[in-house]
Amino acid sequence: MVGAGIVGIACAYYLVKQHGIGNVVLIDPRDPMSLTSAQSGENYRNWWPHPVMTAYTDHSIDLMEAIARESGERINMTRRGYALVTRRPLPVDLIEDLHRGYGGSADQPIRVHEAGSTCSYSPPVSAQWDQAPQGVDVLCDQAVIQAAFPSWAKDIRTVLHIRRAGSISGQQLGQYMLEAIRAAGGRLIRGKLAAIEKTAPFALGVETADGRFTLRANRLVNAAGPFFTDIAAMLDETLPVSCVFQQKISFEDRERAIPRNMPFTIDLDGQSIAWSDEEREILSEDAEAAKLLEPMPGGIHCRPDGAEDGAWIKLGWAYNERPSDPHDEDPVDPQFPDSVIRAASRLHPGLAAYVGRLPRGAHHYGGYYAMTAENWPLIGPMRTPGAFMAGALSGFGTMAACSTGSICAAWVADGDLPAYARPLSLSRYEDAALMSELSALSSRGVL
Ligand SMILES: Cc1cc2nc3c(=O)[nH]c(=O)nc-3n(C[C@H](O)[C@H](O)[C@H](O)COP(=O)(O)OP(=O)(O)OC[C@H]3O[C@@H](n4cnc5c(N)ncnc54)[C@H](O)[C@@H]3O)c2cc1C
Repeated sequence: MVGAGIVGIACAYYLVKQHGIGNVVLIDPRDPMSLTSAQSGENYRNWWPHPVMTAYTDHSIDLMEAIARESGERINMTRRGYALVTRRPLPVDLIEDLHRGYGGSADQPIRVHEAGSTCSYSPPVSAQWDQAPQGVDVLCDQAVIQAAFPSWAKDIRTVLHIRRAGSISGQQLGQYMLEAIRAAGGRLIRGKLAAIEKTAPFALGVETADGRFTLRANRLVNAAGPFFTDIAAMLDETLPVSCVFQQKISFEDRERAIPRNMPFTIDLDGQSIAWSDEEREILSEDAEAAKLLEPMPGGIHCRPDGAEDGAWIKLGWAYNERPSDPHDEDPVDPQFPDSVIRAASRLHPGLAAYVGRLPRGAHHYGGYYAMTAENWPLIGPMRTPGAFMAGALSGFGTMAACSTGSICAAWVADGDLPAYARPLSLSRYEDAALMSELSALSSRGVL
């Protein structure tokens, strides 16, 4: 297993758990879970523009629920949902997207609560994952919206509340799986895969602090996160994956702008950030910063972070679309904290208190979304016999780690695959109908 991020760990875990294969070695020069997996917002949802991705994440959530139960809730799974908000009244296109994404599933009903109708909506009072309703509530009644979410701006006309969604502790999940891997005889080697000889078994050149050694492996899984294409290159393969840097901020919400029981909330509407004339002038002097003067896309997200009686909050905005090289220094944007606070305060007016005054100790961080153009992962065989891959998990690798691990393990061990698994492998590029369906979608589900 090349890479001990959440994906490599999950692949090893399901080899152990579902196929009884304990002779697994994870190679990584870093601490486990310390690269992209340490930057995750740790949110999960089963909301996607296509039923394949819905089935994939639903399966992952099923597996996370099983781990939550068997570990005595060690992975801190909560479920207050994702609230997608817009100032548009009854957005028919978004409701159609919901129907397409859920594929008419009877388990995931879509309940539209129009103004004036008797409202059966149940707000997310409890964070307990096993008490949340299934499906989606579409709230179109401003009185209901304002009663349920009094801290939001009053111009919100529609809320799509995805109920099978929430947060988990990705670090706890990884730790729990690592313990099971070790208990079954699996090992973690601190070393970097530097070369692969494609003879069977593979001869892997591993660099460690003590020098280089050769490891022989019957099967190889590429789970190298942002360095996914490097491992492919060692096998003389190219993969259609690029890396896009995304950022977040977190800080102590001393002003109590965000209620602790607010679901993960996404403002879907684009906006032009309200800069003063002076700020406009300063920003326009720098070509990079000047982009912030243009109309910006929607997708700003915000949620309370940590314990219910805590005070930290997290904000993110995946507006960057430009790929960069993960071998270079991280392209951290110093303007990001200020821009995201300003833009988020449109929906959360209480956050305006932090414009230009972000609390001391605020954390600004980021990592790479390794992604394909269609924002679907690549899980399954590589072209080289005996080599497999699990990567391009973009902004969904924490939530989809379990199903990724489960299907990658099935590919490796020649086990049964669920119906959604094949389109997530390289074989989808041979399916012209599917690829044209994906390119016609209005959303790729990037958050
Ligand atoms: C800002 C941000 C927010 C996110 N929020 C969410 C979220 O809310 N929910 C969600 O589900 N997902 C989220 N994600 C996505 C999620 O974090 C990633 O998809 C996931 O962590 C990817 O895991 P990974 O194991 O593939 O990669 P990584 O965690 O990067 O692990 C890859 C490992 O491979 C190792 N490696 C690389 N090259 C070699 C080599 N040659 N030899 C040996 N080892 C090697 C690396 O050292 C690394 O440890 C977010 C990502 C970012 C950046």
